[in-house]
Amino acid sequence: MDTVGIEEQYGLSVCKRQELVIERGEGNWVWDQTGRRYLDFTAGWGVTCLGHAHPVILEALSNQAGKIIQNPNSGFTYSPARAALLLRLQALLPEGLSRIYFASSGAEANDAAVKLARKVTGRSEVIAAKKSFHGRTLSTLSLSGGAETGNSFLPVVSGNKFVEYGNLQALAALISERTAAVILEPVQGEGGVRIPPPGYLKTVAELCRATGSLLIIDEVQTGFCRTGKFFAIDEEQIEADILTMGKGIAGGLPFAAFAMTEKGAAGVQKGDHGGTYCGNPLVCAVSDAVVKFLVDNRIADKVWDTGNQALKSLQQLAEKYPSLIHNVRGKGLMLALDVGDDDGVAAITQACMRHGLLVTPTRNGVVRLLPGLLLNIAELDEGMQRLDLALADVACTPESRSCATGSGC
Ligand code: PMP
Repeated sequence: MDTVGIEEQYGLSVCKRQELVIERGEGNWVWDQTGRRYLDFTAGWGVTCLGHAHPVILEALSNQAGKIIQNPNSGFTYSPARAALLLRLQALLPEGLSRIYFASSGAEANDAAVKLARKVTGRSEVIAAKKSFHGRTLSTLSLSGGAETGNSFLPVVSGNKFVEYGNLQALAALISERTAAVILEPVQGEGGVRIPPPGYLKTVAELCRATGSLLIIDEVQTGFCRTGKFFAIDEEQIEADILTMGKGIAGGLPFAAFAMTEKGAAGVQKGDHGGTYCGNPLVCAVSDAVVKFLVDNRIADKVWDTGNQALKSLQQLAEKYPSLIHNVRGKGLMLALDVGDDDGVAAITQACMRHGLLVTPTRNGVVRLLPGLLLNIAELDEGMQRLDLALADVACTPESRSCATGSGC
């Protein structure tokens, strides 16, 4: 049996697959088993921020693996690798977020954040946004307002409420002294790269202060320079009570974290949280190397510039294919083509693949682009040319709503 056969036969099938067997990657490129090369504008769902097989990651991996991978009694003992990462992150985190704990996935970090917010405030109600995504554990699913709500797994975790993202009146009407926390992404990722109006998060932070609720900012997708700032909330200097991190944090290894204020941490007691891999030295060492690289090379500034250029190119494509693309959006290298329907998304994703470009189909009729952060201008142009060819294919099929002649061109 080949790779596809084995995976289909023995893997639990939980998603629709792309017919693609990836064997290796280097920088922003990956190769399939036939040796065909693709430009990777997905970064593994926004994870491989330094691209594939980056030497900094390989070196940190082998150095630390040769020392120790998992501590005796894990978090009960101390680790120089964990200490180094704590030191580096605390210097980068928005002011006030001084207590950090590690996890293995974004969902796990959000789960812990909500759990501890409930403990610290003694309240149980949590407000999240419609079209949000915070993970697939039962509690984070119950807080995700997108397509994957917990409704297939009833009963969901109770006490959660949802408001329109970006709508302050809706939040002001709902938040109260019963609210433990408000959890929000600075830019909704899975919801389709949705950017709130300027000042939104600042006012949300004020509403939280006024009601004694905690503001949990989910930077799992936006953090680590993805939006052209180290954290997306750096742009407006939002004061969060808890900030969660994941994806790019360790350049591809499963890792995540959350940071909270000293005041919040004072409400956390020994035994309140833990986990086998929380702060595993191997991943801490890799994360430290990744974060050092991002900072030393001023990657946030570069992403800001490349992102602006990418958005301009997308706007040109939107003008060229007006009936296919409704809108383009983006912040840094978190970019979206809004095509309005999921069939269009599937057709464009497939056509991109045929032209050697990998993009991320996203719900709500959106094609998402999340390239590696070291993307250079030549690669960006190459990607946009391939996207142009793919869009031309989709626009010119007899069934297409954009084919003027009905001939398939
Ligand atoms: N929060 C956000 C904003 C995310 O985008 C994601 C993943 N797409 C998660 C949480 C969940 O992270 P993970 O898949 O690592 O559990």
